[in-house]
Amino acid sequence: MKTIGLIGGMSWESTVPYYRQINEGIRERLGGLHSARVVLYSVDFHEIEQWQHAGDWDAAGERLADAARRVQAAGADLLVLCTNTMHKVAPQIEGAVSIPLLHIADATGAAMAAAGHRTVGLLGTRFTMEQAFYRERLQQVHGLQVIVPAADDRAVVHDVIYDELCRGVIRDSARDAYRRIMDALVDRGADAIILGCTEIGLLVGPQDARVPLFDTTALHASAAVEAALSA
Ligand code: GLU
Repeated sequence: MKTIGLIGGMSWESTVPYYRQINEGIRERLGGLHSARVVLYSVDFHEIEQWQHAGDWDAAGERLADAARRVQAAGADLLVLCTNTMHKVAPQIEGAVSIPLLHIADATGAAMAAAGHRTVGLLGTRFTMEQAFYRERLQQVHGLQVIVPAADDRAVVHDVIYDELCRGVIRDSARDAYRRIMDALVDRGADAIILGCTEIGLLVGPQDARVPLFDTTALHASAAVEAALSA
């Protein structure tokens, strides 16, 4: 079994389910007392969030590249960056190490395309919903048409992530807002919805939408298990 290198803490509220789901996946596959070989480097999310909102992606990328080097030096065979948003700096991270990065958009896009989905709604931070790095990979590599909420709804989705979910706050009011926003995406033609932020699965589940939900945390954790067990 290969050693999975996690770069987490963005936020740590979603790194906990990653760790759990990766270990559950290894137990399901190997049985008994098997558990995952994991190296975890967890960042201080405060400084990452400051750089994100200041638009200083180079500084954030350098911090994560440094984390990646340390994870590789600790013996990891592959890298899992436990956030959708910070895949914006995936090239900077990949350039710092010789082990492969399992891209979260590939784990997600491959599962959606395999399930036959074509037009998908995307929820995430404003950066993930509005910038090209994530949507274009889903479109160009996985052939998916991606639609995002209207501007005022994107603000709601973004603010709930930073003001509530990343702080461990789960509110019915936020769940109701997300239900309404997912409904609007389905009305506009989405045949599935990507929970494209690793905390959203803490708030909503399959019962909250009329179409299948694809939780990026679960899909990424499962891809890590497959990669760890591959030859
Ligand atoms: N965990 C979130 C994501 O998947 C947001 C936090 C971050 O900006 O990294 O995008």
